[in-house]
Amino acid sequence: MRIFEKANKLEHVLYDVRGPVVDEATRMEEQGLNILKLNIGNPAPFGFTAPEEVIQDMRDNIVHSQGYSDSRGIFAARKAIMQYAQIKRIPNVTMKDVFTGNGASELIQLSLNALLNNGDEVLIPSPDYPLWTACTNLAGGKAVHYICDESSDWYPDLQDMESKITPKTKAIVVINPNNPTGALYPREILEGIVNLARKYELILFSDEIYDRLVMDGEKHISTASLAPDLFCVTFSGLSKSHMICGFRVGWMILSGNKAIAKDYIAGLNMLSNMRLCSNVPGQSIVQTALWGYQSVNEYIVPGGRVYEQRDFIYKALNDIPGISAVKPKAAFYIFPKVDVKKFNITSDTQFALDFLKEKRVLFVPGSGFNWKEPDHFRIVYLPQIDILEDAADKLRDFLSHYRQ
Ligand code: PLP
Repeated sequence: MRIFEKANKLEHVLYDVRGPVVDEATRMEEQGLNILKLNIGNPAPFGFTAPEEVIQDMRDNIVHSQGYSDSRGIFAARKAIMQYAQIKRIPNVTMKDVFTGNGASELIQLSLNALLNNGDEVLIPSPDYPLWTACTNLAGGKAVHYICDESSDWYPDLQDMESKITPKTKAIVVINPNNPTGALYPREILEGIVNLARKYELILFSDEIYDRLVMDGEKHISTASLAPDLFCVTFSGLSKSHMICGFRVGWMILSGNKAIAKDYIAGLNMLSNMRLCSNVPGQSIVQTALWGYQSVNEYIVPGGRVYEQRDFIYKALNDIPGISAVKPKAAFYIFPKVDVKKFNITSDTQFALDFLKEKRVLFVPGSGFNWKEPDHFRIVYLPQIDILEDAADKLRDFLSHYRQ
């Protein structure tokens, strides 16, 4: 049946929530075993909670949130997002250019569905957040992966990116800060990407959902702020910055040269109307969440949980013979490298499965992020340090005897 043909295109999508390793973990749990899950970027199970004011406001607003809203979202939410775009220096954004969604995920899918005809190509990072690849393929397009270079702090390789541009290329996807690498891109790299988009007349999609989770005093730069003459779509939301993944609050912002994208914008509006609107109770807290006191700021400085856990896992992994990792600067992921020769590893999925079965710790193999070699995996470092220490000890012990 056709639906299964389509599903086949989704190979490897969201290995953090489905696929052979997660399936095995589920089987083990059904047998009563306890699994330590380092597979998914969901802060709530690890003791991170939403700011109190956000919860309070959702409670107060829920009785007034019963009807459909404007399909792009309620005024207060869109105004707050528009003002956030001003602060991030995203140019030429009006209220009509802001769309709320049930998470950024819904809008990623919507934006690609509106854009792609069969065979159109989209440049997507490798490693990627695999939803981008899956949604591109599902919309009939072709995901073409550009390399992010581990030896350069996981920055996109601009030469590789340019070499993969063809007459069929429609857009470049930038994920900054990055999942799974935790990289934060400097201005020069972003300018390089913008220059390529300018040279080849491409749309820029910038996924900036981790923009408030930046450490070491670094500052996040919005791609769109560097491209006033190009058409850009910036994606973000409250899932990560406010630790409320379950509330499903995301948005996208159209900016820059909208005149060149008139038809596309009409398509976006049509698809937005088709889903009626995003969750209205979720929209009701956007203004509260985006402005005022930001509890996330306490997590990402020395002494804060995300910062200290990052430092711990970075050191602990690099201390294990055969493992090396670039220090993440943002988000809450690390993407370590395994010495495949030393352990004779030819399948990263097998490696993750073997570790899971022996030590009951779940992580996602690199192939789950469209990384072609079997030499990486992703760890979510949201758990407290004592739990991360236990996981690192188990990995050290496992690798002391493991050969595939
Ligand atoms: N973009 C990236 C890079 C992500 O890592 C995630 C979730 O992990 C999303 C988008 C989806 O976020 P949302 O919860 O807003 O759908």
